[in-house]
Amino acid sequence: MASTRVYRNRPVTLTLGSIRVHVLSDGVVWWDGGGMFGLTPKVLWQRVIRPDELNRVPMMLRTLLVEAGETRILVDTGIGDKLPDKARRQINLQGRDRLLQDLATLGLGPEDIDIVLLTHLHNDHCGGNTRLDEEGRVVPTFPRAEYWIQRRELADAMFPNERTRGTYFRENVEPLMQSGQLRVIDGDTDVVPGIWTTLTPGHTASHQCVVMEGGGEKAIFLADAVSWGVFFERLAWVPAYDLEPMVSIHTKKRLARWALRHNAWLIFQHDARFGVGKLEEQDGHYLVRPLEASRSVVEEVRSND
Ligand SMILES: [Zn+2]
Repeated sequence: MASTRVYRNRPVTLTLGSIRVHVLSDGVVWWDGGGMFGLTPKVLWQRVIRPDELNRVPMMLRTLLVEAGETRILVDTGIGDKLPDKARRQINLQGRDRLLQDLATLGLGPEDIDIVLLTHLHNDHCGGNTRLDEEGRVVPTFPRAEYWIQRRELADAMFPNERTRGTYFRENVEPLMQSGQLRVIDGDTDVVPGIWTTLTPGHTASHQCVVMEGGGEKAIFLADAVSWGVFFERLAWVPAYDLEPMVSIHTKKRLARWALRHNAWLIFQHDARFGVGKLEEQDGHYLVRPLEASRSVVEEVRSND
């Protein structure tokens, strides 16, 4: 009797004055724990998250739906459904249209999205940009949306190197160029009043986070700058995927100081345990206090094989 663990994001909504931030998800993928935790020995990281028999750990694919006045903004689009079946099996991706289903629970369809903000162009963050239509053509998933991408990130994605080739896919970007839906931004950029993007390099050279402010409160979507809470608590823990690990550590220190100064809500994109928390400092160490309502649903499912 085998048993597998199933993780599900628990959607929560943060209200910042007139801005509403819904923490949604495009499901869960299982990735190699060594890639996720980099140089950190397994005996340490397996206390944070238990790997499966293939040494994979669950990674949540959180995205945001932000309502700001009349504007509906999606932040990242998950991994989408264009991967072939073999690749889906390798990462244990279950179900289809996961993000679209989460949007539907808010009463929203793909045509309701005005802006898609992309933190960077790795496939697990922008695979949902595009989808296969009935004839098998790759088309934009959100037909009315303008997709915002950093100029340097776009260049890196269009001309990948030996190391980045496995996660930068033209089919996530080119259809947006052809349809005229791509907007290239350069550096920190205001989106609408109370919402802006800010460069947070390290994971990629032009990785960006998204900051939301209203009603005297701030929240930040950390994406792969700090994708699990423990990466704040252990500043030396840096994923093997990060292209510039020392820059990642510098970025994390800067973000930690900012988070403490503003008592900001922190939204962790890949943390399988919880999605939202706040940072505290105790005896010179950082500690992430989870928002209880954002703890993932975890089930042990028994199977007869
Ligand atoms: Zn990434």
